[in-house]
Amino acid sequence: SFKKSLGQNFLVDTNILHNIVAEADLTKEKGAIEIGPGIGALTEQLGRAAGKVMAIEIDQRLLPILQDTLSPYDNIEVVHGDVLELDLKALIQEKLSGVEKLSVVANLPYYVTTPILMKLLEERLPLENIVVMIQKEVAERIAAKPGTKDYGSLSVAAQFYAEPEVAMIVPASVFIPRPNVDSAVIRLKIRDRPPVDVDDQDVFFRVVRSSFAQRRKTLLNNLMNGLFLKTQKDEVIQMLADIGIEPTRRGETLSIEEFARLANEGLRRGLIGQ
Ligand code: SAM
Repeated sequence: SFKKSLGQNFLVDTNILHNIVAEADLTKEKGAIEIGPGIGALTEQLGRAAGKVMAIEIDQRLLPILQDTLSPYDNIEVVHGDVLELDLKALIQEKLSGVEKLSVVANLPYYVTTPILMKLLEERLPLENIVVMIQKEVAERIAAKPGTKDYGSLSVAAQFYAEPEVAMIVPASVFIPRPNVDSAVIRLKIRDRPPVDVDDQDVFFRVVRSSFAQRRKTLLNNLMNGLFLKTQKDEVIQMLADIGIEPTRRGETLSIEEFARLANEGLRRGLIGQ
């Protein structure tokens, strides 16, 4: 039986499995991490394409099935646990040493997509690509450009750490059971360094979050409500003028470069506390 609470929608279309693996650009010199192997359909394909595979599964009931399905592969190791709780850096060192490059390839449990992706990105794991099946709507938010309705703090965070690209849209019919939403495979090519110079990453993300706090409000109002509580409005207007950002714009029109300029200048002028 399937555990809906664990986001168990298993992929049954070999073609799609194949296409997902192809997106990750694996070779026998590289390694793969799978999150949520389920009954092991994608895992098997990863075992064939990569040198080493580590698959992390939370549901204990699936472990004997996985052990059975994956017994022909001596390069796949299944780890039992919650990916959000595990020390991934340590596991990579322990289970995936000696591989040239590493990618995450998974059909993610949708109820925890964002926390999983943010953990993978923020921990700065040594990854080449993250290729994951997620809800189509979340994929579109991740890849969204400034000024579009899907653009938000998730877009900025993902694009700060990676170059995202929606690789394919996937119909619900390729899963058992069928999910209620459309799906997409997104490929995040991990950046060596952020695309902008940010003096304090924590301040940068605080600026981003407060700029998007209320989408109907102007940038100035959102900043005054969330970030510059102790600062005079005039000082903030002056700073925005000095860095060439109109205070009446809305947060969702700012590029990553503009958020960085705002964060760096707010910090420099002592308007944002560290
Ligand atoms: N990879 C399989 C496939 O493509 O058919 C299954 C994908 S299914 C969408 C998601 C899988 O993630 C399930 O096997 C579920 O038990 C597992 N899972 C859910 N939450 C998890 C977590 N926090 N950590 C690790 N695995 C999790």
